Amino acid sequence: MADAIRTTCAYCGVGCGIRATVTGERSLEIAGDPDHPANHGRLCSKGTHLGETVGLEGRLLHPMIGKKRASWDKALDLVAKKFRDTIARHGPNSVAFYVSGQLLTEDYYVANKLMKGFIGSANIDTNSRLCMSSAVAAHTRAFGEDIVPATYDDLDAADLIVLVGSNTAWCHPIVYQRIRARCDAGAKLVVIDPRRTETAEEADLHLALRPGSDVALMNGLLQHCREAGVVDDAYLAAHVAVPQDFWDQLGEGNDLWSVARTCDVPVADLRHFYELFAATPRTITLFSQGVNQSTIGTDQGNAILNLHLATGRIGKPGAAPFSITGQPNAMGGREVGGLASTLAAHMDFADDNRERIARFWAAPAVAEKPGLKAVDLFRSIGEGRIKALWVMATNPAVSMPDAGRVREALAACPFVVVSDVIEETDTGAFAHVRLPAAAWGEKDGTVTNSDRTVSRQRALFPLPGEAMPDWWIVKEVARRMGWKNAFAYDRPADIWREHCRLSTYENDGARFFALPGAAHGGNAAYDAMEPFRWGGEQMFADGRYPTEDGRARLIAVAQKPLPEPLEKWPLTLNTGRYRDQWHTMTRTGLAPKLARHREEPLVEVHPADAERLGLADGGLARVSTPQGDSIFRVALHDGQRRGELFVPIHWTDRTSSGGRTGLLTRPLVDPISGQPGFKRTPAAIEPV
Ligand code: SF4
Repeated sequence: MADAIRTTCAYCGVGCGIRATVTGERSLEIAGDPDHPANHGRLCSKGTHLGETVGLEGRLLHPMIGKKRASWDKALDLVAKKFRDTIARHGPNSVAFYVSGQLLTEDYYVANKLMKGFIGSANIDTNSRLCMSSAVAAHTRAFGEDIVPATYDDLDAADLIVLVGSNTAWCHPIVYQRIRARCDAGAKLVVIDPRRTETAEEADLHLALRPGSDVALMNGLLQHCREAGVVDDAYLAAHVAVPQDFWDQLGEGNDLWSVARTCDVPVADLRHFYELFAATPRTITLFSQGVNQSTIGTDQGNAILNLHLATGRIGKPGAAPFSITGQPNAMGGREVGGLASTLAAHMDFADDNRERIARFWAAPAVAEKPGLKAVDLFRSIGEGRIKALWVMATNPAVSMPDAGRVREALAACPFVVVSDVIEETDTGAFAHVRLPAAAWGEKDGTVTNSDRTVSRQRALFPLPGEAMPDWWIVKEVARRMGWKNAFAYDRPADIWREHCRLSTYENDGARFFALPGAAHGGNAAYDAMEPFRWGGEQMFADGRYPTEDGRARLIAVAQKPLPEPLEKWPLTLNTGRYRDQWHTMTRTGLAPKLARHREEPLVEVHPADAERLGLADGGLARVSTPQGDSIFRVALHDGQRRGELFVPIHWTDRTSSGGRTGLLTRPLVDPISGQPGFKRTPAAIEPV
């Protein structure tokens, strides 16, 4: 049997290390990597069953123009010509890329460089916009740069772990195992989530708050900390800029009783949480999609960051706010500028940054301002302003909010390219050109997980058919558009080294994102790369932040009034993941054992609501919202708050006749981050 190859899991932002042994032409044995700092040898069900997903069934293996197979040359020439012609006729902002947290950092880097440095637009956004862009915006407002201060090691040192809007047991299982181990050693666990999830079931305290009331909860806690003398005035004086009227701007109603009313939680539970938090210096607050996927997600994130800054619980072992990311490379994408709102290497679009990038890339047309964020990008396609779109490694026809409108936009777009590993996807159905991309296990590169650890993904199999890595596909289009020298990469290590050099180029410590010199090495060093964490073990330990004055910022955020239920849509629809499925199931759907956990999409309903509405457990029901409707099987669950429904995000037209959550969600976004508010859609339900 061949030696095990060290690589990284294809799925979530925990970023577990894997030892994969090739046992046949397309078969693998998978084991956790005991030497990887994220998982120390453990794997969850999804990672364990990766070996079942590496067959070639359903793979896109050849370039396709329309329904016809084409040569790479013909397909790439056509893509380059269409983009070049569209730009010549309508300008650089008439084209766009929509990319993905599934891409490796090297893929992301080349796509971002082409769009922002050479085409001259910043219209490249990513499905990470749907996942954690509110955390990015909150970090940037508070710290001056998108920095995650915590690491997984901090969990091992915490005495109190607070999970906000995160079903960690299902969505980040290996992090959850680490949390449980710490709780077994005496730490307390508080879960703040409208639903009584599997994570909440095991918590010392669960606050099932009213959706959208997080700011009230956190501001009340901040007020409590102030009254309890836990605000660290010395830390604030030395390291944090506090607006003069900060405490006044938090708004009215931060006393215990008012907060309990706003959040709809028992006063005794709220007091318990506040006292526990105030009394426990070593506290980690993890937050995830329940915070981010909101039209007030950035404010909700800053309410959490405020607490840690005001109490000086940051930059110390076991004390920090911790945004946990959904995708395997959401953080790597943020580092190279995969979001329309950043340039590259954590730089914004300030003139000096644009000049720096222009020098470094020898780029002719650095984008002048941020580009269109995901929801606006697809809206612009629908309005005819974007005329050529390239979608890489993602399925927006299913995953975007108001997916019905996204489909109409894709159908109307004059030129759509999709590069993907799967032959038939919902989005691929709208493509004029489909390009076969290398899958996990076939491509080489790096990913960055939630705690800033960079790991290698490594090729385990030869490239099948005519599939090619994404970085190669993008660079071939760039070269055909006339930029041969700037995209003269022969292998991912060439791109990695350039990315490393850019991270330190004329940086002088102004930005905290900088890949250490040891990471810049040659091909052999790249091939042998061990997981490493950039930024060191204890970010902000010296109280210095990447702002002009070196201070962090408290951001005054006040709770917005929560809307009353509408007569036609009296319920609130929440969305999320199942334990054993991933995104739109193009990979996990291949592993039969994973389907056993949940075989079909269920709408979870409180039993009292079900009785009132005539819904039977196991019966079918139509869930409708102002956006659309879809049929789900009903599952009664007394862990639901009354008046609220929960549905999963995974099923598509190709996998189910119902359960189409994307058709139900609204394209309403956080005004700062542009992240859609998936978690709170007015809804109705009726038996069918
Ligand atoms: Fe993969 Fe995430 Fe499971 Fe780790 S926790 S094995 S990264 S899916």
